[in-house]
Amino acid sequence: MKHYDYLIVGAGLYGATFAFEATKRGRRVLVIDKRSHVAGNVYTKPVNGINVHAYGAHIFHTNDDEVWEYVNRFARFNHYVNSPIAIYKDELYNLPFNMNTFSKMWNVKTPEQAKAKIAEQIADLNIDVPQNLEEQALSLVGRDVYEKLIKGYTEKQWGRDCKELPSFIIKRLPLRFTFDNNYFNAKHQGIPIGGYTQIVEAMLDGVDVCLEQDFFDLRKTKKLRTGEEISYDKIVFTGAIDEYYDAKYGHLAYRSLRFETEELETDNYQGNAVVNYTEREVPYTRIIEHKHFEFGSQMTTVVTREYPDAWEPGKEPYYPINDEENMRLYAKYHALAKEDAGVIFGGRLGVYKYYDMDQVIAAALGDVAKEL
Ligand code: UDP
Repeated sequence: MKHYDYLIVGAGLYGATFAFEATKRGRRVLVIDKRSHVAGNVYTKPVNGINVHAYGAHIFHTNDDEVWEYVNRFARFNHYVNSPIAIYKDELYNLPFNMNTFSKMWNVKTPEQAKAKIAEQIADLNIDVPQNLEEQALSLVGRDVYEKLIKGYTEKQWGRDCKELPSFIIKRLPLRFTFDNNYFNAKHQGIPIGGYTQIVEAMLDGVDVCLEQDFFDLRKTKKLRTGEEISYDKIVFTGAIDEYYDAKYGHLAYRSLRFETEELETDNYQGNAVVNYTEREVPYTRIIEHKHFEFGSQMTTVVTREYPDAWEPGKEPYYPINDEENMRLYAKYHALAKEDAGVIFGGRLGVYKYYDMDQVIAAALGDVAKEL
């Protein structure tokens, strides 16, 4: 029987970083994943020379020098800067909300004029401290930008009214009074040349990995799907924390996604990697044209339409719903976890947090340092 110090559940960024660091420190680890590939949701798959972001667009950005240096050990990054386009009916705008957006919306030319326009649009609302996403958005960008570029997109993305969503979601996006279409306010940004999968493969080089392995079967039988018996001292779990505890207090809520990907016989379908469709009536939120992440010059292209989808147990959870009710429920699971010396939770699903990739890696590095 093979014995491991750590059974790592999930071969995404958290699991792979933990595995790499623990192995480096002489620990024996086994990584399992229920999917047939490593890299979790950052998995990229080559299709005719184009690296397709199979679970939605991932653009690496960080202010953390240490994390940037760290990921650059596993891949070379290009100088891609995310500058999405928003299409509302027959109008086209630059994102994030900046002077290019405002000048197109109102024909204003200076920051002062843009600020005056926003102030005029919200003068009668008297929003002091924004209580929800709608109030937050209105107070930042005014009614026109809210109605055309935020309301429809957000309500289809989350399946809820903007008045019922926490305001922090919209604070992810920068708001600038300069002509700067960079979607992130990050010090470092780029796409790994050749895709994300190689990063995780490099981290897991020399580590035991068992794919298409269900954790709950293994927990019960202590046998891998190959029939091999194993034992382990501790679990690192990057799946949903409520599922780990058999949803004993009830299920946490998530938002799911559905992707429709197609190859097209054109070299340039939309002229940008990310185009958001912000009106409510268009059922998808965005179209991703993958080749533009790596400045591809292939003869054909691959595009993906991203459809928000209701989540129910059994469906793939993508986003945690961090509203008050779910945070209260999460606190109960977190309390269980704190008393449980046999498991460490990590990643977006393990700690029920709307993490970016750099935060996941930073958390894994921090947890390993604490643990070992
Ligand atoms: N958002 C919006 N309009 C857009 C893009 C984003 O209103 O064109 C809002 C929406 O509420 C979304 C949030 O900003 O959920 C965060 O967007 P981000 O691009 O960070 O979302 P992610 O890429 O994580 O889905």
